[in-house]
Amino acid sequence: MSQDSRPAPQIGPSPEGVDGQGFFLTTVEKAVGMARKNSLWPLPFATSCCGIEFMATMGSHYDLARFGSERPSFSPRQADLLMVMGTVAKKLGPVLKQVYEQMAEPRWVLAVGACASTGGIFDTYSVLQGIDKVIPVDVYVPGCPPRPEQIIDGLIKIQELVQSEHLGRRNSPEYKALLASYGIE
Ligand code: SF4
Repeated sequence: MSQDSRPAPQIGPSPEGVDGQGFFLTTVEKAVGMARKNSLWPLPFATSCCGIEFMATMGSHYDLARFGSERPSFSPRQADLLMVMGTVAKKLGPVLKQVYEQMAEPRWVLAVGACASTGGIFDTYSVLQGIDKVIPVDVYVPGCPPRPEQIIDGLIKIQELVQSEHLGRRNSPEYKALLASYGIE
């Protein structure tokens, strides 16, 4: 008997709309949201132990590919989800910011684990006390290390944000003010 305890993929129902025999009517925004949600391309920025948990998450047992994210990109220009996993030293902060800036909009950020979220146990002069000191973060995954199930839960929360995001958000004054607060144009 199968002992598969993996969470089911969250492709989700069709967007809200009007359907009938042979047709389905919805808005462009909802269709785009559904497409983006199910085709996220992650950029793994893994610096230490949490990166190992990410490797397990990508492996056959947990299989992040089931969520449409089977194509990790190591080129920022071809990724729209920055997954930061591990301890980030202050010296690495500008590098992380540069990677973020090289990603095209729309882009999202997942901070995986205590170190990426808050500096974790490394409350020292040399460690960044959370990546949100240098770039905006959309979802935080707690844990030291978080289990693959938690990373998947974080991805699902990112998917929910992606699906419901207003198409004009990236051009809104609020979003531009958010980027400006990080010194990003
Ligand atoms: S949160 Fe824990 S497991 Fe993850 S990188 Fe930091 S020390 Fe390692």
